[in-house]
Amino acid sequence: MKKAVIIGGGISGMTAGILLQKAGFETEIYEKNSVPGGQCTGWKREGYTIDNCVHWLTGSKPGTELYNLWSEIGVLRGDGTVKKTSDGKMLLDKADSGIYKKEVFYSVELGGQILTLWRDKERTRKELLKLSPEDADEINKLIDYAAMAECVTVPVEKPMDKMKLGDYIKLGASMKEMPKIMKEYGKITIKELAERFNHPLIRFAITGYMPDNYLAYAFVVSYATVTAENGDVPLGGSLAMALRVADRYKELGGKLHLGTPVAKVLIEGKKTAGIELFDGTKIDSDYVICSSDMDHTFHKLLPESFMPKALKKEFEKREDYPVNSGFQIAFGIEDNFTGFVGTRLFDCEELVVGRQKVKHMSLMSYSFEPTFAPEGCVVMQTNFEQNEDDYEYWKALYEDKDKYNAKKAELAEEVVRRIVAKFPELSGKIKVLDVWTPMTYTRYCNSFKGAYMAFVERKGVKKYTIPGIVKGLDNVYLAGQWLMSPGGLPVALATGKYAAWRIINEK
Ligand SMILES: Cc1cc2nc3c(=O)[nH]c(=O)nc-3n(C[C@H](O)[C@H](O)[C@H](O)COP(=O)(O)OP(=O)(O)OC[C@H]3O[C@@H](n4cnc5c(N)ncnc54)[C@H](O)[C@@H]3O)c2cc1C
Repeated sequence: MKKAVIIGGGISGMTAGILLQKAGFETEIYEKNSVPGGQCTGWKREGYTIDNCVHWLTGSKPGTELYNLWSEIGVLRGDGTVKKTSDGKMLLDKADSGIYKKEVFYSVELGGQILTLWRDKERTRKELLKLSPEDADEINKLIDYAAMAECVTVPVEKPMDKMKLGDYIKLGASMKEMPKIMKEYGKITIKELAERFNHPLIRFAITGYMPDNYLAYAFVVSYATVTAENGDVPLGGSLAMALRVADRYKELGGKLHLGTPVAKVLIEGKKTAGIELFDGTKIDSDYVICSSDMDHTFHKLLPESFMPKALKKEFEKREDYPVNSGFQIAFGIEDNFTGFVGTRLFDCEELVVGRQKVKHMSLMSYSFEPTFAPEGCVVMQTNFEQNEDDYEYWKALYEDKDKYNAKKAELAEEVVRRIVAKFPELSGKIKVLDVWTPMTYTRYCNSFKGAYMAFVERKGVKKYTIPGIVKGLDNVYLAGQWLMSPGGLPVALATGKYAAWRIINEK
């Protein structure tokens, strides 16, 4: 039986492992952390669960190719639903299966006025038109294009470079509106999209949620994912999702080695012979899949000379291919708070986070996940977007742990003050559960500059899709979000499948 070793037990690595096990290969996954899932994770603090990842899972809609693959790897099991009781509480049928169907994408509040981007896009259209009739043309265009963007998906059948004409025709037909969307929103940034509107609340709604240097189409497609009922949240959150995938892998006979970082890929001529661990143990294998961060892969695991040229260009040209991260805080709210559903953005007293002055913040309520908090309480989290400059700030501070921790605590206190200013009913009921920074992702997942997605697509900058092969090494494959901007869970899933596909079909 042929054997594949997979470096990294994130979503991409585990996807590859599951599909190879199913195809009759022997596989072993080596993961540096004690918990599988990589960035798709969560952790417990003081009886609460903190969630690190899924705000929306593209492919949560039954009947789509992505849904089938998510189901195949164990993410979506059963069809549990969340129901609202008469007193406004959200209750689950099954704690660890199914999907929470979002009613709202998110909402914003400015100067006492609230605007919601509903799952029901016609409701959003109606409310936007009522709010700002003078923006009618742009509002109608935005909602019409969101409707068109509901077709957008990531192809998962086979690697894109292996697709034949017929495959492209099929894909083109299923995403026939994409060229129109790219023509309208693929050449402007989110910030420029917002500037097309007059109403400050609409501008805020557009720039507030995603980094405003992203291309505008990313905002439209993300909203469309929710309106298409294709961007919901697996119950149990990111940690439970990752553990379900790990269980599926182990049920199929896969060997998952946790707490086992890989030191390097062993190279003999034009092939790999396996991997080496930090204690010098050598693990033989016929194939190696690197699903770890690509900067780490080509600086620590393999010589940089093997890095695909396009990827090298992306890592070197920092202006053209920036990455983003976040400064985040989780709170335990000792109250059955029902002030808003999902994520709310609001303006706040100015605060310096990393090297940026911020004047607004987000708060996500996990009230839809009763398993996350003790009875009568709820988890809330905030995420301040951080760029590479901020990363350097946190990296320098991290050199002195006392200063680093003191800064985190100071900011958490400042943020609590701003939450109470917005929601005075929460005074005395907010407990800081944890604070994490871009450095956390570097420490935890070896992430390049603390990135939690891949390269941001910039206006006028060439976008690359990196084939998951390594020129000069016959039996080494790549998987993970870095292969296709802007990354994210569907890319991790697809590239994990592509790596398995190449081994199954080409070897
Ligand atoms: C706050 C946050 C919110 C997000 N929200 C969403 C969302 O709503 N929707 C969405 O689609 N995506 C979201 N993402 C992105 C998503 O989490 C990632 O795209 C995805 O999890 C990446 O998976 P991956 O397998 O490519 O990489 P990783 O998750 O980075 O997996 C790589 C694994 O390799 C391991 N590793 C690294 N080096 C070694 C080594 N030397 N030896 C052994 N193991 C090693 C790492 O520990 C890690 O487990 C979010 C991310 C964050 C952080």
